[in-house]
Amino acid sequence: MNFTDTHTHLHFDQYRDDLDEVIKRAGQAGIKKILTLGTDPASSRDTLSIAHRFEIVYAAVGIHPTDISDKPNEDTRRIRELIDQGNKIAAVGEIGLDLHWKEIPLEKQFPIFEQMLMLAAEKNLPVVIHNREAHPEMRRFLRERDFTRLRGVMHSFSGTANDAAFYMELGLMISFTGVITFKNFKDMDVVRSVPPDKLLLETDSPFLTPVPNRGKRNEPFNVRHIAVKLAEVHSLQLEEISEITCRNAASLFRWND
Ligand SMILES: [Zn+2]
Repeated sequence: MNFTDTHTHLHFDQYRDDLDEVIKRAGQAGIKKILTLGTDPASSRDTLSIAHRFEIVYAAVGIHPTDISDKPNEDTRRIRELIDQGNKIAAVGEIGLDLHWKEIPLEKQFPIFEQMLMLAAEKNLPVVIHNREAHPEMRRFLRERDFTRLRGVMHSFSGTANDAAFYMELGLMISFTGVITFKNFKDMDVVRSVPPDKLLLETDSPFLTPVPNRGKRNEPFNVRHIAVKLAEVHSLQLEEISEITCRNAASLFRWND
């Protein structure tokens, strides 16, 4: 059975000593494609070199809302340069809005988010969007700035079913992390509201490790536990979830199946 992990941060220190083994374990677990995402120009460059090192890894480059520097225009220029130079770039990400860590005000996040969305559109790449505790603000922003069609994914989704419907209407897919395997997870109705043809699998490694490995460092091979939960929620066989989500990811990121 094949799986895809559409959200990882393999450049993080957590993998400094054993990335080769992490990728090997992923391959043994049937993972055919992994997307690894940068959060600023330097880490985006790192993700690209990881993608060049491992055949199954693809890179996304972008500026995360909590990693906006005091030279945002220069950062955007560097992200653009990476896209122009590099192959194996499958998306612009991780980008978005974040109201959880209150260090960078929304007024500074909006222009970077918009620049990243425009860059993705110009380069014909999908977007990987982070949204933490900012769904009303995100929806208002997208409406006011007239983003009526988007190709991409709302990752680590934490909004309401109504929010999910809004994003799917724009053309976005939705992905859930290992959080849906936690005993205290309360929003299974939100998960159920997203039809399988809009779902992607992601671990968000090294964070949010699913049960039964909760508490340990997360790795792509854990994506199976999330797939099992999604199959259960949608009353599907695991094989069906595996096939559908691989197909969804291939059509979004346009890598060879
Ligand atoms: Zn992330």
